[in-house]
Amino acid sequence: MTSVPIGPDLFADSTEGPRLLGSRCEHCGVVTFPSQDGCPRCGAEPLVRHELARHGTLWTWTTQNFRPKAPYAGPGDERDFRPFVLGYVELGGEVRVEGHILAEPEDVKIGMPLETVVIPFREDESGRQVLTFAFAPSATAEPLT
Ligand SMILES: [Zn+2]
Repeated sequence: MTSVPIGPDLFADSTEGPRLLGSRCEHCGVVTFPSQDGCPRCGAEPLVRHELARHGTLWTWTTQNFRPKAPYAGPGDERDFRPFVLGYVELGGEVRVEGHILAEPEDVKIGMPLETVVIPFREDESGRQVLTFAFAPSATAEPLT
């Protein structure tokens, strides 16, 4: 099955696995995800492409107990929606990224180590598998070297 990313320039493969693609301000050092054209702190532009750390820690989280409204385009409909954990993950001490946490609520703890993964999300109109990023529990918050 052909697969396509859910958005352009959101993530890329690296030798250690998938990494999110953000942007960094060369003037003040702010890192953003997704990438932006201008710096939200100092207004400088353009920002440079910046690969985010693959590993991080859970900063805070909640559970998504109902199917989000449009433009959410996840699989299925109201009837087969399953609650999931949504969290902010601090990556490399640079930026906090919101995403799906691949763990059951009873297993989730603030500060737990997580790593970036790419998972199938849904099928598009052409029968292609749409891929998105998520965060999975990891043995370590730091990359293994
Ligand atoms: Zn800046």
